[in-house]
Amino acid sequence: SKVRIYTLAKDLGVENQRMLEILDGLGVSYKSVSSTIEEETVDLIKQILAEEGTEGTETAPEAVAAEAEAAPAVAATAPVVSAPEAPATAGSDDVAPVAVAAEAAAPATAEIPHRAPVVTIMGHVDHGKTSLLDYIRKTKVAAKEAGGITQHVGAFEAQTSKGRIVFIDTPGHEAFTTIRARGANVADIAIIVIAADDSLMPQTREAIAHAQAAKVPMIIAINKVDLPQADPDRVKTDLTQLNLVPEEYGGDLVVVPVSAKTGEGVEELLEYISLTAELEDLRADPKAAFGGVVIEGRVDRQQGVLTTVMVQEGTLHVGDFLVVGENYGKIKAMNDSNGARIKEAGPSTPVQILGFSDVPNSGEKVASAKNEHAAREVVASRQSDRRDIEDARVQRRKTLEEMMGPLSEDRTVNLIVRADSQGSVEAIQGILARRETDNVKLNVMLAGIGAPTEGDVLLASTAEATILCFSVTAPAGVKKIADNKGIDLKSYKIIYEMIDEVDRLIKGNLEPVF
Ligand code: GDP
Repeated sequence: SKVRIYTLAKDLGVENQRMLEILDGLGVSYKSVSSTIEEETVDLIKQILAEEGTEGTETAPEAVAAEAEAAPAVAATAPVVSAPEAPATAGSDDVAPVAVAAEAAAPATAEIPHRAPVVTIMGHVDHGKTSLLDYIRKTKVAAKEAGGITQHVGAFEAQTSKGRIVFIDTPGHEAFTTIRARGANVADIAIIVIAADDSLMPQTREAIAHAQAAKVPMIIAINKVDLPQADPDRVKTDLTQLNLVPEEYGGDLVVVPVSAKTGEGVEELLEYISLTAELEDLRADPKAAFGGVVIEGRVDRQQGVLTTVMVQEGTLHVGDFLVVGENYGKIKAMNDSNGARIKEAGPSTPVQILGFSDVPNSGEKVASAKNEHAAREVVASRQSDRRDIEDARVQRRKTLEEMMGPLSEDRTVNLIVRADSQGSVEAIQGILARRETDNVKLNVMLAGIGAPTEGDVLLASTAEATILCFSVTAPAGVKKIADNKGIDLKSYKIIYEMIDEVDRLIKGNLEPVF
């Protein structure tokens, strides 16, 4: 009988990553850790692992890595200690001792401890994003001390059987896109919630497009499976139309049926998150220089400016000086996402900081400074640079000519299409598909009905896409943002003019323009 890779890994007590390495070494193909493998392969794997066991390798780096999140100090040293014992790799300190069939991870990364994944939940309105977050918060967040009010700080930490998972709890892609639009990456994994009774809707497609543009791995949660009219199979089929093929249909998309109401499937969803995180091999050094991102900021009438910051690298301490944009502050007090006072916080920890005088913007990067003097200097130089940067930005406005890449190389032109009706959208997609050439691929990241939105502009800026509108007009506000960001946003009333533009884009990518 067939066995799932992660089940086997669990049974044999090895990391999924290690299991995949062995499979690679054996030349066995798989889509993901939830793919199944043949019994003969299982026997081979057991043999390989048994041989490793007899070679006297007591401390497999994988086993150590599994504990890294819990005990960073061990992970930081163990692989180094065991390296010289490597039996089959004389003369190469770069290869871990248990590398039998496949290359092992470089020790440099093995020394950096794992960190918890940061997850964002996106999807169409009313599909259950808030409910799912609420359910996870209710069941997986350690109860707060009596008397305290759990305040919304923009993120929370769930404790699961597989470790800590951090959730950004501003549902929808606003948080995701505004943070990304400022050049920061905060989410490691995107959960796309799709209601089983509604299937794919416009904002579902947008959410998927955003995750894809950001190259953030996606997990699909088909929600509301408790409803009698739930039709998860329809959702899976609809996903296939977007070239997203669920695992059970032979693809590599993880799809988990859940109910935010009954809690069904939520445990599996959390397991898949941990599994995905493990495969992504997320690491951060608590000893590195501090780096973080603002999740959100607000003014509290009693306390002043409260800023939620995600620690991404290094460790924050009360008393540290921080610089955000043209604003600096000293951390007077710090809370974890549970509202408890803390003195320090390491990677993948959302903390609420008291100490800035102005409210920073979501998505702004946060750095630390040695002392107040250094912080002031950074701010001063940023202020004086600002004008130049703004000027440069205007000049850097991408024109069609600039979008052409290296000659004769295969290129992709990213497009966002907005039109007045489903019929127009489909017609345009059909036309675009026929304009593609051998060298130039047209990638329609998003095709929707109605005027372009701010979200479209943010998506376009992430993916360097052109926005083409047919018989719809962009609101002035959206036009202005596109202008500021140097995004080409074009409206057409005549389809041939639009096609001409597309042909220009294709040519622009092929021919030099002097
Ligand atoms: P959001 O707009 O995506 O955040 O959606 P909400 O979480 O606000 O949910 C929208 C509606 O669907 C609410 O009335 C929820 O009670 C309901 N809902 C959410 N999840 C489920 C579920 O799993 N089962 C059922 N039956 N209803 C749900």
